[in-house]
Amino acid sequence: MPLARIVPRSEHTISRSHISPNALRVLYRLKEAGFQGFLVGGCVRDLLIGLTPKDFDVATNALPEEVRRLFRNCRLIGRRFRLAHVFFGNEIIEVATFRAASEPPGEEPLADLDPEEGEGPEISEPDEFDADLADTQGEDAHVLDEHGRILRDNAYGTIDDDVWRRDFTANALYYSIADFSIWDYVGGLEDVLARRLRIIGDPETRLREDPVRMLRAARFAAKLDFTIDPPVEAAIREFSGLLASAPPARLFDETLKLFLAGNGVSSFASLRRLGLLEGLLPTVAAYFRRHPGSLVEQLLLRGLENTDARVRDGKSVTPTFLFALLLYGPIAQAIEALPPNLWHEAGAILDACDDAARELSARVALPRRFSLGVREMFALQPRLEQPRGRRALRLLEHPRFRAAYDLLLLRAEFELASPEIAVWWTRLQNASPDERGRMADELAGGGARAGGAPRGPRRRRRRGGAKPAA
Ligand code: ATP
Ligand code: MG
Repeated sequence: MPLARIVPRSEHTISRSHISPNALRVLYRLKEAGFQGFLVGGCVRDLLIGLTPKDFDVATNALPEEVRRLFRNCRLIGRRFRLAHVFFGNEIIEVATFRAASEPPGEEPLADLDPEEGEGPEISEPDEFDADLADTQGEDAHVLDEHGRILRDNAYGTIDDDVWRRDFTANALYYSIADFSIWDYVGGLEDVLARRLRIIGDPETRLREDPVRMLRAARFAAKLDFTIDPPVEAAIREFSGLLASAPPARLFDETLKLFLAGNGVSSFASLRRLGLLEGLLPTVAAYFRRHPGSLVEQLLLRGLENTDARVRDGKSVTPTFLFALLLYGPIAQAIEALPPNLWHEAGAILDACDDAARELSARVALPRRFSLGVREMFALQPRLEQPRGRRALRLLEHPRFRAAYDLLLLRAEFELASPEIAVWWTRLQNASPDERGRMADELAGGGARAGGAPRGPRRRRRRGGAKPAA
């Protein structure tokens, strides 16, 4: 006899026509085999407010091995806690076995563990909450560290247990395939309809268990336009410092979810409002604190706007470009701390990028391929700003040209680089090979200035556009 309020199909708006056919296939197969099958989490929440879910997660009482036997196209993942991925072309339905919480909320509910080691996913990887639990049913199933953070959490349970380990009431609704009802243990339905983000249990305890929940709150508030419940907001402000104890690989994943999922601008605003930028990206926050209303901040916001627009248009977005935007302030600051005659020197720029990446890594683990990309983007800036004859044409073939050019365009928009030279590169890309040669020669020959591109003495534009120190 479940403890949930069961809302029958006639009293809610979720229709099977909005559910992924593959998720339905998984649910029906589980049901035919005598198991429980529920959609759970973000997909139920999103369907209730009329959004298209990013993915469909399934929860069941079948054990991972039992799930595997039911599906040919299935792989078990997660080193510590087994989780089934059922593949349909490029759609993956994640099937998680119910997990046990040690106690109802307020006592000692459960959260996730550190993520898998190694490089972070590029977004839309299995969520850590599901992927990271231990795979044994040990006696010391639930272990907290000295801050109250959950270190081990590894027992299977029933749906009555599973619900208490979820983070927010809006994320804790279950849609049953048996009769299409919604099971609500925590008042989540009411909260979703009121667009309210309420934590399950005591805010302080739940944020201590897993400080990443603070970022999740910021992200959901931004993406869903939900209001964060005042006690949760107060707890976030009070305990934001705990982010420092979160595993850097998870903070990287979460940063991508915040900024590369189409709501970067509102996520940024939400982080700042909640005082979380300081905890997630301390060097970035420090730059903005020292240079209020700076051009760099405007550049970041415009870059995030462009990224959001790309996501909306179904275009690709990259962590490299995102981190170039985020680290622009710290990198510019390190460069400008040097004498102006070094500002365009490759060595100085690379050192500044390395310093910024190293400082970042104290909090956010940026995989090396992305920090190398950021370096290349910045190192290409002076080469784009001072194209040298036909050699400049070779830059068009550089693997990082496009990203570096996009950064140049943004810089030019805020007069952090010459707008004329940005126009020159735009024209160059659209030109025929012959015209390209002519444009390069004009630039080198010192005749008519190509498209108004500046030549002659190097311009010493301040990268950050901050006022020179007195
Ligand atoms: P979206 O996929 O739209 O970002 P989501 O709510 O589905 O949002 P996921 O990260 O996919 O978020 O997680 C799926 C579900 O797992 C959540 O809805 C929540 O119930 C649970 N969950 C995920 N992470 C945590 C966590 N850190 N603590 C507690 N529960 C979590
Ligand atoms: Mg999800």
